[in-house]
Amino acid sequence: MKYDEILGGEFDCACGRRHEVPVRRVVYSEDALGAVGEVLGDVAAGRRVAVIADMRTWAVAGEECFRLLEEAGWRATHVIVPDTEHGGPVCDDATFARLKKRVGPVEVILAVGCGVINDLSKWLAFERQIPYAVVGTAATMNGFAAANIAATLDGVKTVLFARAPVAVFAVPSIIRQAPYELTTAGLGDVIAKPISTADWMMNHKFCGEYFCRYCSEMINDLEPAYFDNPQAIKSGEPEAIAALFNALVWSGIAMTVVGTSAPASGGEHMLSHTLDMMSSVDGAGHDLHGRQVGLGTIFSCALYERIAAIERPECVEMPGDIDGAFWGSLAANVGAQYEAKKELMQTIRRQAADGKVWEGFRDMCRNNVRPTGQVKDCLRLAGAASTFADIGCSRRRLRGAVLHMHEIRTRPTVVDLAWMSGILPGAADDIIDRWLAD
Ligand SMILES: [Zn+2]
Ligand SMILES: [Zn+2]
Repeated sequence: MKYDEILGGEFDCACGRRHEVPVRRVVYSEDALGAVGEVLGDVAAGRRVAVIADMRTWAVAGEECFRLLEEAGWRATHVIVPDTEHGGPVCDDATFARLKKRVGPVEVILAVGCGVINDLSKWLAFERQIPYAVVGTAATMNGFAAANIAATLDGVKTVLFARAPVAVFAVPSIIRQAPYELTTAGLGDVIAKPISTADWMMNHKFCGEYFCRYCSEMINDLEPAYFDNPQAIKSGEPEAIAALFNALVWSGIAMTVVGTSAPASGGEHMLSHTLDMMSSVDGAGHDLHGRQVGLGTIFSCALYERIAAIERPECVEMPGDIDGAFWGSLAANVGAQYEAKKELMQTIRRQAADGKVWEGFRDMCRNNVRPTGQVKDCLRLAGAASTFADIGCSRRRLRGAVLHMHEIRTRPTVVDLAWMSGILPGAADDIIDRWLAD
């Protein structure tokens, strides 16, 4: 990566801020596990390390890490986080409380796994104020190098602020052999990038939100490897999978550097978050984060296409309130987020009325957002989820999510803009039938 030089350092950026990059190393190579001990040795205040994994990740890489660390003179212990009755482990308060008791005094933690194991380890390391590193076992989400944790507290999905890992390691042959649906989830998460960038620029243009071009462009060079060649992801070609894994890691680094999720999470993520929240209300299952984000990306591209076609917007009033019945036990929380967004939406409304500002915005859309068909084809040809049936969701449930996803999150997205410009709710059925039905 041409950005490797910023790892572990600080620099003055053209955006006007001084950026700090807490991640010191990203090692993607067949002998990556052999480098773990040395990197941990640079940051740990002692020689006691806890390796945290689940049953599967222990077998594919955890045990080997443990052995190599012991051989290198570390006093290693390990904890295998048990599966739940619904499948793999979860990152919630109860699991964390048990993990805390099982991990004795150590100076550093090594997570071996993906989303949940990484988040639990990050949480524990942050609470104990010790460093941690992660060995990724699948190209499945962009949280490896992020500072945030997605945790469920008292049944409610919450974002906790913690600290990024000191290093991310991965062995290409392990990443290529991971269950394919995990890889397709990673593709869905990273294919969101052009939309999240456009949403970030939209907030910059209309609301004056901080924007860093440098961080927004970090994964641009990696994108052609999957956007232009989805079959290579499907057939597991080393270069394509390497690009995908690195794009996920560097998306996380971009979020860590700017301190918000704006570089990698825009309107497309609202669909996935809403489906997850619907599940927490009614107990029905949901698919992997990135597989749902892929559908959200298709939907958001279709919205951008329609918005960019508007020559002069005639703004309509946004719905005054959220649909409390839809959100059930989450209504108060969602309502507060929606209220917090209203003032920004008024600002966008005023700005959009200025012909020059609007023309600039349309140019930005044309330069950044990819055609809906290209995103759809990429996901389809890669064998990723691209229809509501693929994510195990009925049309009715998806439609419910699509028509309520603007109610969450305080930062405006293309979904809000679509409501404001009168495209939603009317276009929802058309977009679902044209792009997400088959
Ligand atoms: Zn994501
Ligand atoms: Zn910057």
